[in-house]
Amino acid sequence: MGGTGYGLVFAEGKRRVAHRVVYKVLRGDVPKGLDLDHLCRNRRCVNPDHLEIVTHRENVLRGEGIAAKKARATECPNGHPYPPDSRRCAICRKATLERYAAKKGRRS
Ligand SMILES: [Zn+2]
Ligand SMILES: [Zn+2]
Repeated sequence: MGGTGYGLVFAEGKRRVAHRVVYKVLRGDVPKGLDLDHLCRNRRCVNPDHLEIVTHRENVLRGEGIAAKKARATECPNGHPYPPDSRRCAICRKATLERYAAKKGRRS
């Protein structure tokens, strides 16, 4: 068994991810480069009603990985709220610039 958590089946002489095989049979091909996302979040589930074709990026963002958490983060590591259109904290940026300016001032 692979370590992916997905159910596996043998089809056309190869080990394949079960939900993709089932989806292909019942709903048709999944275009190359696209993923099937489990809306029910159960990787072994093969119910095509629970599967949705998404781009790989979307799938990763919906998942629970570190990248997904980062992409959804609404606060910087210091707890300041991010502006809605960016993942950059203006408060931390200002503080860094001020620290930098203070250091420079001390040196000269
Ligand atoms: Zn399901
Ligand atoms: Zn911050």
